[in-house]
Amino acid sequence: MIRIGDVLVSRGEGGVYGERMLGGARIWDPFRSKLAALYYVGTGVELTAGMRVLYLGAANGTTVSHVADYVEIVYAVEFAPRPMQDLLEVARRRPNLVPIMADATQPEQYAPLVEEVDLLYQDVAQPDQAAILARNCAFLRPGGRAILMLKTRSVDIRKTPEEVFRATLGELAAAGLEVVETVWLSPYHKDHAAIVCTKRAAGDARE
Ligand code: SAM
Repeated sequence: MIRIGDVLVSRGEGGVYGERMLGGARIWDPFRSKLAALYYVGTGVELTAGMRVLYLGAANGTTVSHVADYVEIVYAVEFAPRPMQDLLEVARRRPNLVPIMADATQPEQYAPLVEEVDLLYQDVAQPDQAAILARNCAFLRPGGRAILMLKTRSVDIRKTPEEVFRATLGELAAAGLEVVETVWLSPYHKDHAAIVCTKRAAGDARE
């Protein structure tokens, strides 16, 4: 990841969400982006120039615009019409950002548009977040990474964030994902945890 001093940045055209520039690069704000917060409080996944990414829950393009600055191609799925309008505008100036208006619970809708990816990123804030991630793992290459941004209050408000978090880990393991990093995103985002996983290769029977 690119840092100027301690400041996380990406190299691309600014003006997406009023982000400030530093040394000609876009400051990637951890209060506006959970992925940026992960790079501040944890390790995350190094974004590289040859990487293909499937991004679920792109909203109006804040985070996905930074991801597109780093990688080869990012497929950005969003189902709400209003943020999709903004996302289309962001994509107009980034040829490697492919906006897809579709429901992430139904990956068959966009299967013809997406290729195998190295990174699956999921930030949809829905009750069935782990199940949505699992369903989309079909697009992830064996050994590829998945990042789930878990909004614990969206899953079950009767349970504590820790209970939701533990239950989610179990669901991910059952889906064939090996959890390699977990981190709470405070102080940047309340009751949000980032869970980084690796997709096991076929025949890899580790528990
Ligand atoms: N990832 C964005 C960012 O960092 O800039 C913020 C995403 S916001 C928390 C969650 C987004 O997921 C919303 O825009 C919402 O419309 C979208 N979303 C929720 N459920 C979805 C689904 N089933 N399919 C596609 N998008 C969904």
